[in-house]
Amino acid sequence: ESKMAGRNALKFYSNAMSNAVQSRLEMENELRQALRRDELYVLYQPIISGDTGIVIGVEALLRWNNPKLGHVSPADFIPLAESLGLISTIGEWVLEQSCAQIKKWRKHEHGPRYVSVNVSSRQLLNNVIVDDVHLGLALHGLPASALELELTESALIENSEENQKTFNKLHKLGVHLAVDDFGIGYSSLSYLRRFSFDTLKIDRSFIKDVPHQKDAIQLVDAILSMANSLGMKIVAEGVETKEQLDFLQQMGCSAIQGFYISRPLAVDDVLPFCEKQNLASAPPTITQGEES
Ligand code: C2E
Ligand code: MG
Ligand code: MG
Ligand code: MG
Repeated sequence: ESKMAGRNALKFYSNAMSNAVQSRLEMENELRQALRRDELYVLYQPIISGDTGIVIGVEALLRWNNPKLGHVSPADFIPLAESLGLISTIGEWVLEQSCAQIKKWRKHEHGPRYVSVNVSSRQLLNNVIVDDVHLGLALHGLPASALELELTESALIENSEENQKTFNKLHKLGVHLAVDDFGIGYSSLSYLRRFSFDTLKIDRSFIKDVPHQKDAIQLVDAILSMANSLGMKIVAEGVETKEQLDFLQQMGCSAIQGFYISRPLAVDDVLPFCEKQNLASAPPTITQGEES
């Protein structure tokens, strides 16, 4: 009987294995076609000023909706796209979408002024990103300040000599460079000084525990003062509560992003959100007059 059970367990195990392999293969095949079949789209999450509450920019966040697989999380398909060598093509497409959108939004009084685009470290391996960025700006008649590129700490560390040259070229174009998910990787202060990054995005794992845990408060405080002394802008990611927002504003955090402000939005929802947010953030003297 126990032999039977063992055999069944083995069979179950190998079925589960081949199912896993099968579904990975299926996801690979589907992902290779996703762009051509128009299954990818971009959401934009608002980023507000810590001082004024006004929308300053948006982060472009890629989505994949496949007829067989449904919505696949970027946490799953981005690494797959990287390992399949698809990320450069997909990244170029996200950049183009983002440039086209921000061009339109900047024409509106309340529209976001910049779009922040995630760039995989794989996209730095050749120098195509520099040409892509240059072309994207030129094609849409955008100032470099309309574009920010987000890189994770690993991009600062791996292959750092070559990457630094690329960062310098991008910096020369005038686009802003941001360190994404700051604090969970291994970058040292010397990296931050050496590379000409403009912005630090504090990882949401640090924001999660403020303002209740003392060590989290101290860490955020330390990151903020470090960024200040390096002349960098700070974006707090993953702000989910009013308490967190109040705390970060009090600490002088320059920019805020998170579900409490807004979820990532579909293209058509961005301008209406910005109008509402900016009008609600107008100086109190004006609203007081209207209300009394
Ligand atoms: P990320 O760059 O750190 O982007 C922020 C992630 O945090 C997004 O997840 C966003 O939806 C989520 N988020 C924002 N506010 C909150 C909040 O208050 N609470 C919580 N729990 N989460 C929040 P998303 O959209 O699932 O993207 C996951 C990751 O996939 C991104 O992390 C980014 O590294 C990657 N990614 C997304 N789009 C692209 C892309 O176009 N290119 C590349 N290379 N990577 C991308
Ligand atoms: Mg990001
Ligand atoms: Mg990212
Ligand atoms: Mg992040």
